[in-house]
Amino acid sequence: MNAYRVNGTTADVTECELCGRVELKGTVVLEALDVEGIGTGEVVYFGAQCAARAAGWTVREVRKAAKSADDLRRREFAARFRAWARDTLALDVTRPYALADYRHATGKTLGDLKAEFADASGLLPV
Ligand SMILES: [Zn+2]
Repeated sequence: MNAYRVNGTTADVTECELCGRVELKGTVVLEALDVEGIGTGEVVYFGAQCAARAAGWTVREVRKAAKSADDLRRREFAARFRAWARDTLALDVTRPYALADYRHATGKTLGDLKAEFADASGLLPV
């Protein structure tokens, strides 16, 4: 049984917690699993090589799992962001020019809105 699952990647942590290598482009976010294979919420940040070693996979498998986890997180974030903008700002971000009109009216960019949403939801911005 795997001791970890791959939760994605992050560019915010650039030091491998396993070997101490620094200035990586990013790290793989691994979540420790309990004996039944359920996520414990405890995460570690390893470089791809160390993540592969720790999880018992190849580097290629780790990168693939990290990419799917990132894609899923991105889709979830986008879906919840759209719902949040609609419910709290009465803004349909899927409408053409909606964001340009909103920026023109309020001075707020898409990045500003995503940061506001991330704060309100506790989700990490993607
Ligand atoms: Zn390492």
